This record gives sequence, structure tokens and C-alpha cells, in this order.
Amino acid sequence: MPEKVIHILLVEDDDIDIMNVKRAFKKNNVQNPLTVAEDGLKALEMLKSLKANNEPVPKIILLDLNMPRMGGIEFLTELRKDEELKDISVFVMTTSSEETDIVDAYRLNVAGYIVKPLSIEQFINAVSTLNNYWTLCEYPNC
Ligand SMILES: [Mg+2]
Repeated sequence: MPEKVIHILLVEDDDIDIMNVKRAFKKNNVQNPLTVAEDGLKALEMLKSLKANNEPVPKIILLDLNMPRMGGIEFLTELRKDEELKDISVFVMTTSSEETDIVDAYRLNVAGYIVKPLSIEQFINAVSTLNNYWTLCEYPNC
């Protein structure tokens, strides 16, 4: 059986946060290819074009909520409406601990909602936990 490569898409507008995710991936020796989209609209365009071109579509999305143009909840709403993209696992990673955001996110079937820890060390640990989780799980090939 060929080894499955799980692509990950990070949807995040903040350069520092993008850097922190990349840093945490490196520290934890996360091997999954990581692509970045700066907002919900870009992410949707990217996913649709990958699908249309028969290229590997990310199985996992790491999603920020507060972004310009299209925020995380709006993005999730669109994603779940799309027959071809609605099964992607999404982890919210945000600074928002607003109950309404948490409720909305789970109604849109997120796999997890993580409020960003304050320190980079805590963040590295959080990414390690996520990596263990998605390494353990099976994902569909298509
Ligand atoms: Mg943001």
C-alpha cells in the first residue's frame, strides 16, 4: 500500500501566526506538506481549483477565525455546503474564546476548537498533539 500523504492547509492572515505554525511543525518534525491561504476566499478558491485539476486536496484544515474578506465561520459555512469539499477535517485555531464562535464552529462540524495558548512552547505542544491525532487517524484516499 503506498504511503498516504496528508496535505494540510493553514488558513490564517497573520504573518506571526503563520510563522509560529511553521515553527511548531518543524519543532515537532511534522512531515505533512503545508500550504497557506491568507483568508477564507483564497482558501476556497485554492481548494476548488485543486479539486478541478485532480490534485491532492488537503484532508485537514487549520483555520483562524478573524480574517479580512472572509472569516473562519463564513468559510466553514461555504465549505460544508460544497459537496466535494464538505468532508475535510477542520481544526479551529483562534484567539477567540467567544461561546458563540465555539458553538457555530461545532455546528459546522469542526474536528476541534483550540484557543491559541499564550506561549510558543504551549503552541508547539498543541501542534504535537494534533500531529499525533492526525497520524493516528485514517483518511479517505480520494
Ligand atoms: Mg487572524
